[in-house]
Amino acid sequence: MKFSVVTLGCKVNQFESQAMAALLQERGHELVSQGPADAYIINTCTVTAESSRKSRQAVRRAMSENPFAVTAVCGCWSQISPGDAESLGADIVFGSSDRTGLVNALERAFSDRLRISRIDNPMERRVFEELPAGSGIGRTRAMLRVQDGCQNFCSYCIIPYVRGPVRSMPPEKAVSEAARLSREGYRELVITGIEISSYGTDLGGPDLTGLVESVCLAVPETRIRLGSLEPRTITLEFCERLSALKNLCPHFHLSLQSGSDSVLKRMGRKYGTEDFFSRLGLLRQYFPDCGVTTDLIVGFPGESEDEFEETLAFLSKCAFSSVHVFPYSKRPGTRAAAMESQLPRSVKKQRAARAAELALRLKENFLRSQTGKEMEILVEKSDGGFIFGFTGNYCEVRAKGIASRNELRRVRITGADGDFLKGEAF
Ligand code: SF4
Repeated sequence: MKFSVVTLGCKVNQFESQAMAALLQERGHELVSQGPADAYIINTCTVTAESSRKSRQAVRRAMSENPFAVTAVCGCWSQISPGDAESLGADIVFGSSDRTGLVNALERAFSDRLRISRIDNPMERRVFEELPAGSGIGRTRAMLRVQDGCQNFCSYCIIPYVRGPVRSMPPEKAVSEAARLSREGYRELVITGIEISSYGTDLGGPDLTGLVESVCLAVPETRIRLGSLEPRTITLEFCERLSALKNLCPHFHLSLQSGSDSVLKRMGRKYGTEDFFSRLGLLRQYFPDCGVTTDLIVGFPGESEDEFEETLAFLSKCAFSSVHVFPYSKRPGTRAAAMESQLPRSVKKQRAARAAELALRLKENFLRSQTGKEMEILVEKSDGGFIFGFTGNYCEVRAKGIASRNELRRVRITGADGDFLKGEAF
């Protein structure tokens, strides 16, 4: 069977798509990246209205590319809208769990021309589904998915309703997976999950700090990068223990969402700006060269012009190295969707543009501040006397020099050029 996989959404969805593809290839099926296939897996997302729209579009596109193929839809959109997926004509409809089950169903549907739907209740999930990691991006970086689910119920977020409660990979399994990936040649592992700050809360420990420490010590030759973190994770203990690890990338994606305390309260976020800023200070004290990136939602219900100005001022105060800006997207079933004072699309669009403009200036400032430093990059490409790759603190670098892909190479930064740094390898 020739099969194709279309993935929308987050790193966890990307990881799970790679795992489903690896399972099918192990069973002798052929992964095709373009052109008609005998079977399609569409791994969907519903974090915003736009990602739901794109999920529907991807299902239609697969079905029009080969109307006789088996179409399997899974992920967070079909978890919450299975009827819509079925009405589009999908042969197999699964949710955001049981990826191995979907692979089995796909083989059965292909041989017996069956229609199979299996949607569970995410709130009843208790077991972490282990899936084969690997076949990451060009064999330089691989994702190590160690956690699933979230129980924070931020008022705007649909994820807890489609991914269920926290389930963590046993720490010894995470360490052995990291060792396997390192032996396979990956020089960077990204510890990822839906909400990794909750890692281990279902196991009675260790917490994320303990896990990261064990993984880093198990694979000292491999860089370890962390996925998105909740501010509460940044404690003195986190900083003291992890700053001692040479192979931990000094890059922290600390999810802020708003720089206004009154908006944070309505979002149900569990910190205020003062708390956030003091944790940021702690990070910079223990990781002086670190890059701190963040997520920001603008146009949250009731967000006044003053609250938005507070957010812009706080972004500047935090001097992030990069900011992902999202206009608020109403998700049916969330508390925020029922809130009054939903803002018009035009206001959200205009605020997103203003925040993105500031974000660009902050990024340029951070890149410029790297000039003169000597840093290590993981070479992803070598071309025409130049090497390309990312620093530990997550800056993209284009440096003069020769090196092979997947090599960790030291460079001297000579300046910034738009979105990336210039340098010379030595
Ligand atoms: S922490 Fe909040 S925003 Fe993040 S997945 Fe959980 S509920 Fe959603």
